[in-house]
Amino acid sequence: MPSVRVTFLGTGAGASIYRAHTAITLDAPDGTRVLLDASSGNSVLRNATLVGMEPQDFSHLLLSHDHADHMSGLPLIQLVHSRANPNGNPLQIHSSPKALESVQLLCQATSPNLTLDHEGARNFRGRQVLRWHPIDGGQSTTLGPSTTATCFPVDHIDQAMGWRVDCGGVSVVFSGDTKFSPSLVDAARGARLLIHEAYSTEADREGADQVAHSTASDAGRAAALAGVEELILTHIANPFHFDPQPLVDEARQYFEGPVSVAHDLYQVTVDTP
Ligand SMILES: [Zn+2]
Ligand SMILES: [Zn+2]
Repeated sequence: MPSVRVTFLGTGAGASIYRAHTAITLDAPDGTRVLLDASSGNSVLRNATLVGMEPQDFSHLLLSHDHADHMSGLPLIQLVHSRANPNGNPLQIHSSPKALESVQLLCQATSPNLTLDHEGARNFRGRQVLRWHPIDGGQSTTLGPSTTATCFPVDHIDQAMGWRVDCGGVSVVFSGDTKFSPSLVDAARGARLLIHEAYSTEADREGADQVAHSTASDAGRAAALAGVEELILTHIANPFHFDPQPLVDEARQYFEGPVSVAHDLYQVTVDTP
C-alpha cells in the first residue's frame, strides 16, 4: 500500500543537549522528499545517513522560521548535497521573505565560495546550488506530481510559519515553533497527522509563554480542535528528554487520538487511502 514515511532527524528544543535540532523528512508516494527545517551543524545528513537516505535525494526544504536551531544546518546541507550531485538540481528553499533573507546572511557569513543573488546561490563553478522560493502565509506550492505544501502563519516570531503537506491523499501538518495558534487549527483541519512542538507542561506555562512556545496541553487542544487523526510531539526540551511521559499525559487530557513523542531517528509510516 502506498504510504508517507515520516522520519524525525532532529527533535530537540533550541537549548537541547541530548537531541539534534529540528528536522523532519516526509517521503511521499510520488517519490518527493520534503525536508521540514534544517536543524543545526551536520545533523540532518548525519542522521539521514543512519536511516539509509542519500544526500542527493533531498530536493525541497520547507523552513518554518529563522531561529538557529531550525535553519543553521543549511549551509552544510548545501555543501554535501551539491557535492553528492554535481550536475543535479539546486536545493529548493521555501520560506518567508524574512527567513530567506536570514538564510542569505548566514550563507554570506559562513560560505565565502557562494555567490548570492535574488534567485539563489551559485558555487565557485557558477553552478546554482540553492534556489529561493519566498512564500507568504496561506499560499501553496507544488513540490511533486501529487505533493503540495501550504504554509500558514503561527505565533512565535515575525513571519514564523507552519506547513501542511498534502501527498497521495493524506495531509501531514507541522507546527514549527509556536504558541497555541488558531491559524494552525484552521490549517490542520482533518489532517492525518499533526506534528506539534511541546516545550513544557502547564507546570511551566509562564516559561513557555515567555519564549512563545506551546505546552503539551496547547498541542493536545490544537489536535482536538482541528480533528486530526494522530498527534506527535517534538521540539523536546532537556527536562523531558529522559521521561517525556508527562507531555503525553497532558496532551491526552485534550486529544483522544494516538499521541506519541518523537525522538531522533523515530520513523512512522502513514498509509494513504
Ligand atoms: Zn526551535
Ligand atoms: Zn524558534
